[in-house]
Amino acid sequence: MALPSEISVSEVGPRDGLQIEAKQIATADKIALIKLLIATGLKKIEVTGFAHPKVVPQLADAEQVLAGLRKPDGVRFAAFVPNAKGAERAIAAGIDDLKSGIATSDTFNELNVRMSTAQGMRALDEIAAAAKGTRSRIVGVVATAFGCPYEGQLPESQLFQLFEQLVGMDSPVIYLADTTGVANPGSITRTVEKLRARWPDQPIGLHLHNTRGLGLANAFAGLELGLRDFESSVGGLGGCPFAPRAVGNICTEDFVHMAHELGIKTGVDLDKLIAAAQFAQEMLGRTLPGMVMKSGKATELHDKSVARIKID
Ligand code: ZN
Repeated sequence: MALPSEISVSEVGPRDGLQIEAKQIATADKIALIKLLIATGLKKIEVTGFAHPKVVPQLADAEQVLAGLRKPDGVRFAAFVPNAKGAERAIAAGIDDLKSGIATSDTFNELNVRMSTAQGMRALDEIAAAAKGTRSRIVGVVATAFGCPYEGQLPESQLFQLFEQLVGMDSPVIYLADTTGVANPGSITRTVEKLRARWPDQPIGLHLHNTRGLGLANAFAGLELGLRDFESSVGGLGGCPFAPRAVGNICTEDFVHMAHELGIKTGVDLDKLIAAAQFAQEMLGRTLPGMVMKSGKATELHDKSVARIKID
């Protein structure tokens, strides 16, 4: 299949990226980062999450973050919601997209949202009930869709069952999350093709982590499948507190750079995105994994007077 001419990049750095940070980040800094992200032209931004503050202390200021933002027309704010209580808070705060999902593995669910997979599926129904009749919609995510760090490869029936439930909730796109970076381009292709064979009309997206250096290769497999919805984190922020040795999402500016080099439109200003990544780096006071913010774009030419000899 030909590559898509246009894709939608959903930024998850302010939630998936920051939630693992041990040091509490000032609410004003989070707001400043999100404003820079809005200015890049990104149309979908996961701005925070509505988990219990004791479970995810970094996101305890969810309402305050929202209160400090003005949303331009055409931009959708998303937030992660683990249960009906979280959904009610998110709806009250004006969130458009309630990101809710569940992992294919019981162990991961217990650690991540303190529920078994079966309890999680009931929680999803409660979230759907909370959203009914409001202007907020559910955007489904299947976590550990390509394998779990505790249970390994889960039976395919688990993935199909969760996916089916999310299809029934009219999720405009369902993201398959490679939460701990165990997927490879082959498993991405096989999994997406199997789901498509059964649900040909359901748009599928990818939420990828770069844990084993395969993030952009996996994203490219998705592009070759014609997928149009991708989630990523500015600067490559993040990880997951419940995934051992997890690293961040694929990096938004590196992914956008690749897409643009491939002639795929994203609607995002790459220079502004690089500036946002540099702000995130300063905010956290450490070097982030993003590559393009360090190397510059492939189209940038260098001054030969500063070249060094390199023979290997
Ligand atoms: Zn993630």
